[in-house]
Amino acid sequence: MTDITQADTAHTKSLAYLNSGAIRNDWALAEIEAIYNQPFNDLLFAAQTIHRKNFDPNQVQTSTLLSIKTGACPEDCAYCPQSGHYSTGLSKEQLMAVEEVVQKAQQAKTNGATRFCMGAAWRSPREKDLDVVLEMVRQVKSLGLETCVTLGMLDGDQAQKLAEAGLDYYNHNLDTSPEYYQQIITTRSYENRLDTLQNVRDAGINVCSGGIIGMGEKTQDRYGLLQQLANMPEHPQSVPINMLVAVEGTPLGKVEKLDSLDFVRMIATARIVMPQSYVRLSAGREDMNQETQSLCYFAGANSIFYGEKLLTTANPEAEADMQLFKRLGITPEGHQVAAQEMDAEQALLNQVAEPKAAQFYDATAPRA
Ligand code: SF4
Repeated sequence: MTDITQADTAHTKSLAYLNSGAIRNDWALAEIEAIYNQPFNDLLFAAQTIHRKNFDPNQVQTSTLLSIKTGACPEDCAYCPQSGHYSTGLSKEQLMAVEEVVQKAQQAKTNGATRFCMGAAWRSPREKDLDVVLEMVRQVKSLGLETCVTLGMLDGDQAQKLAEAGLDYYNHNLDTSPEYYQQIITTRSYENRLDTLQNVRDAGINVCSGGIIGMGEKTQDRYGLLQQLANMPEHPQSVPINMLVAVEGTPLGKVEKLDSLDFVRMIATARIVMPQSYVRLSAGREDMNQETQSLCYFAGANSIFYGEKLLTTANPEAEADMQLFKRLGITPEGHQVAAQEMDAEQALLNQVAEPKAAQFYDATAPRA
């Protein structure tokens, strides 16, 4: 536990750092610990200040996630209901057909998403499956959406093929610190994960990599995770921070629930050590109340999964997100562009302006 003098020093140091505008890849564990343990208000002030220097503080990027191949994964990630090692009652599905995925992507675009993420529960893709995914990437991209996939471990050739297909982001999480990792996964090593991320970077694809907290780790492991991410040769362009969703039947099914303010501290610390990365509020958001989510946005979170799994307009969770955005005066990033594209399309079709993304609203308009 840091005493108040240390906290003062950490605050002063983080102010000096954020005023410098520097991007660092040499974070010491003790520095991250000091940032994380500052008085809450100092931490949030520092995080919000640095956030404003790098991003529009009232915009949040929205992605839609589709599971293109669900369940029966050979890996043993202790939190994951898709692992074939645990019995969670999840129904297994084969790799989806390209046409079906493209149809879902079109739906996501119509509903306002700007990025479409496709996830497959694999250790690594087989070549014939990768060919199908490459076609998905090409076709989804041709709809004007950014593309992201998560397919497990990749070698250099596979990463290159995905880059050539036009893939924008590859997601591969580190999950936790190197020290705690063995408690969570035994079927692939931390090094394997770092190698995949290197292959992705070498292919020129944006890296999406983060982790999960609330898995019974020590706070030291949270600093360790952030240190690994922030000390990569280049910060991941997207950093998902997940709160464990404890699923019955997995080894972590009965883990004690995380203090939500610790989650906010994690978001704020991620924002400070990786100032130009998109920090994504990921899994676990559905268990957070709106006040906690609002604090996360204030702490520097600026990306969410939107309409996850449910790709219809009648998605109550997606509507709740838009309602919260409205209350906070937040605009979904890319909304203006999407709206302009829609206007142009509509004009061509019938000269009648009929907004397709009814869930989006004008955040600059007076609120009730
Ligand atoms: S590799 Fe992915 S899908 Fe497979 S068990 Fe781990 S988290 Fe789940």
